[in-house]
Amino acid sequence: MSHANLIGGEWVHSGEAAPDINPSDTNDVVGEYDRANAAQVHDAITAARAAAPGWARATPQVRADLLDKVGSEILARRTELADLLAREEGKTLAEAAGEVGRAGQIFKFFAGEALRLQGERVASVRPGVEVEITREPVGVVGLITPWNFPIAIPAWKIAPALAFGNCVVLKPAEIVPGCAWAVADIIHRAGAPAGVFNLVMGRGSVVGEVLVGDDRVDAISFTGSVPTGQGVLQRAAKRGAKVQLEMGGKNPLVVLADADMAVAVRSALDGAFFSTGQRCTASSRLIVEQAAHDRFVSGLTEAIRKQVVDDARKQGTTIGPVVNQAQLDQDLRYVDIGQKEGATLAIGGERLNRETPGFYMAPALFTGTRNDMQINREEIFGPVASVVPARDYDEALAIANDTPFGLCAGICTTSLKHARHFQRNSEAGMVMVNLPTAGVDYHVPFGGRKGSSYGSREQGRYAAEFYTTVKTAYVNAG
Ligand code: NAD
Repeated sequence: MSHANLIGGEWVHSGEAAPDINPSDTNDVVGEYDRANAAQVHDAITAARAAAPGWARATPQVRADLLDKVGSEILARRTELADLLAREEGKTLAEAAGEVGRAGQIFKFFAGEALRLQGERVASVRPGVEVEITREPVGVVGLITPWNFPIAIPAWKIAPALAFGNCVVLKPAEIVPGCAWAVADIIHRAGAPAGVFNLVMGRGSVVGEVLVGDDRVDAISFTGSVPTGQGVLQRAAKRGAKVQLEMGGKNPLVVLADADMAVAVRSALDGAFFSTGQRCTASSRLIVEQAAHDRFVSGLTEAIRKQVVDDARKQGTTIGPVVNQAQLDQDLRYVDIGQKEGATLAIGGERLNRETPGFYMAPALFTGTRNDMQINREEIFGPVASVVPARDYDEALAIANDTPFGLCAGICTTSLKHARHFQRNSEAGMVMVNLPTAGVDYHVPFGGRKGSSYGSREQGRYAAEFYTTVKTAYVNAG
């Protein structure tokens, strides 16, 4: 039996299902998951609208209790959910456990935020008048998520949406419905009133399109690729919906000659290749000061050589498979493009065979690249990184900022002056010093600038900007 969609508090089948395939072993079907049709998305929105007034009036205690319960169950089932995540997406078990833990903590954090939402009371400039500024729910929110964080990204959208009194229709990425379904099941059993949370799985071209185009959806929070995000923005903005987009990255990690080389190599290895390089915050451009170049490249090449690419759930695996055939084809195509552009393939870049049929690829490092090469302009979204040499710090900073993206930027240096200068002058939404560009906390804002993001920040207390709307009330108390 396939896993159904959750609409108005009921599990509803569509009659069409698709298999969720394990990228470490394509013979392994994780489960069958329904694809919602347009009418069902319509029903989910209707259910959310009907539930909206009641949930908006629910006390903060009711919302906090629900979120806390959801967070507790996710954390209690961490090992089992990590196994599901590793099986459907290809992260190693350790990485998957980290992501599941993060999802649980996010629900716990927003359980607290539900209680902490505050307004302001301001003295009016007019006698006898009182002014109150309050935050109210936006209404019905449509959440559209990508495949690379199958549980954390749904969590960081669902939790603030519910905490601040909104009703949700979630559309997870088609190739990883398992974790989203598990979260929906947990929210349902935790006692969310019918219609407060709805899950509609399936194609972007069907489910996503209906959700974005329906006037009854007040706000859309989207995470995914740039082209899809731009289309979502245009359609949603046309009908005046509130929109938030988190999209791609081409994140620079600057390595200066004065860096602790062990820290630099570790940061680059983690940022570029862990989670198979499939992170929007991945360090795909390694901008290295000339004087450190050879030391850095030999250190990183050595470190890459030690990596174990294999089944995500196998003991000892450090890098899991690429998520599917289409992504693997894209990664290999960019390896080819890089070589044709004149970059040197220092290591990796080939398809690997393992015991089970999966999408295995050797992590690839290019050297001798220029920032204007296609491999350094476009997001590859796989285990492929480039070394871009720079004369000095000033040139490294200029190269770091010379990109249409602006999600995250990092620098490895022991110079406080350069670290602080980089922090102030980087054109990215997040900056890391002596850390990988990927790997962030769950209680602080997340998001980028330029082509990477649109709208207000996600996560932490800043999430209230998107999931609430401000009301200013003037009262003549007589
Ligand atoms: P994608 O754009 O292909 O899909 C994202 C979501 O949009 C999916 O649920 C998909 O089904 C849906 N979708 C597709 N077409 C749609 C349409 N016409 N209308 C509405 N929805 C539609 O992205 P992906 O391949 O799943 O994810 C990878 C991308 O996500 C990368 O570019 C990565 O950088 C980005 N990403 C960004 C962040 C961030 O926070 N900045 C985090 C993770 C991933």
